[in-house]
Amino acid sequence: MIYFDNSSTTSVRPEVLDVYTKLLKDTYGNPDSLHALGRRSHQLLEKSRANIAQLLHVNPSEIIFTGCASESNSLAIIGYALANEHRGHHILTSNVEHASVAHSMEFLKRFGFEIEELKINEQGIVTPETVKNHMRKDTILVSIMHVNNEVGSINPIKEIEKIVHSNPICAFHVDCVQSFSKIDVPFEILDMATISAHKIHGLKGSALLMKKNKIQLVPLIQGGQQEQGLRGGTENAPANIVLAKTIRLALEEQEAGYKHVKEINECIRKEIMKIPNTQINSPDDAIPYILNISLDMITSEVLLNALDQKGICVSAKSTCSSHSSNASSVLLAMNKSQKSATHMIRLSFDKNNTLEEAKQFIKACKEIVKEYGLSL
Ligand code: PLP
Repeated sequence: MIYFDNSSTTSVRPEVLDVYTKLLKDTYGNPDSLHALGRRSHQLLEKSRANIAQLLHVNPSEIIFTGCASESNSLAIIGYALANEHRGHHILTSNVEHASVAHSMEFLKRFGFEIEELKINEQGIVTPETVKNHMRKDTILVSIMHVNNEVGSINPIKEIEKIVHSNPICAFHVDCVQSFSKIDVPFEILDMATISAHKIHGLKGSALLMKKNKIQLVPLIQGGQQEQGLRGGTENAPANIVLAKTIRLALEEQEAGYKHVKEINECIRKEIMKIPNTQINSPDDAIPYILNISLDMITSEVLLNALDQKGICVSAKSTCSSHSSNASSVLLAMNKSQKSATHMIRLSFDKNNTLEEAKQFIKACKEIVKEYGLSL
C-alpha cells in the first residue's frame, strides 16, 4: 500500500506507542489525586508540559493540552471572543480555514460578533495588505492558518503578525496543524497556536493550544481545575505525557524530512505534467508535504477510487469535508477553474514515503488515464 494521505492523519511512531502502552498500564493515576499514583501522573504530565514549552520557546503555563486540534481552534476562537467581548466585536479570518475555525466563527455570529472572511489570492495566501486593509479599531482577533491543508500554500504569518499587533487590543491565533515540524513556527510572536499530535506521528485524541499568559479565555468544557480551569475533565495523562516525545522526535527530523519530501514532491510535479490535461493546483512555493493536482478527464471521486483499487491512498479535498460532493472551495477561492475544483486530488507525503512510491503513483495515474479512454 502507498499512503499519500499524511495530512489527514499519520501512523503512530513505534517509540511513542511503546511509551504510551507502558503509561496506560502503570501511570493510570488521576493527576489531580493526592496519593502517590496521582502525584506520579501529575509529575510526568508537568514534565511533559515543561519539555514541550522548551521546544516551542514558550512558558510551561502557556501550553494547554486538548483532545484534538478542532478543540484547540474552538477554544482559541470562541474562548477568546467571549472573554474579550468588552473590547470589540470584530474578528478577521480567511475564507479557506479548516472547518473547526470556520464553524467556530459562524457560531460566534449568534453572539453578535462581526466576522469578516479575508479572500486569499491566486497563490492561496492572505496577503499582509489584505489584513491591513480590513483591520479596525475594534478588531479583537485575527485567526489565519499557517499552511493550507488542501493546497499547502504558506501564509506570511510573520508579516501579518506585525499588522495584527499594531492594534494593541488584537490577538493573533494561527492554526499550525499542517506546518508544525515541517517548517519553522515563530511561536514567540503568536498569541495562540494550534498543534495536533496525530498529524505528526503521535496519538489521535491528543493536541494542544499554545496560549500566551496575557491571553484571557473562557473555557468551553466546564468542569474542574484542570488545565488552569480552561478544560474541565480528567486529564488524558498518558496521551499528554507522550506528546512531548512526539514533538521532540518530529522537530529533530524536521530538516531531513523536509528535504526527503521535497524530492518526492518534485518528482511527481515533473512526471505528472507529462500526462496531458493535467493541472498542478498547489502554488510553486507551497509546502512540499502537500501536492494538489487535477487530471481534467477524471473527476476527484473516480480518480480517488481508481487509485484506491491500486492500493494508493489519497484524498479528494480535505478529509473533514470528504463527504460533501461539491467542488473544492479552496481551489475556487484561488480562482482555479470549476473543472480543476471538481477533478482535484490531494497527495500528502511524509518521511516514510519513498521516490519509488512516487514513480508507482505516476505509473498508476497513466494506467488509470488509459483505462478511461485517453491515449498517452
Ligand atoms: N486544522 C487543520 C489545518 C487541519 O488540517 C485539521 C485536520 O485535518 C485540523 C485543524 C483538525 O485537526 P484534528 O483532527 O486534530 O481535530
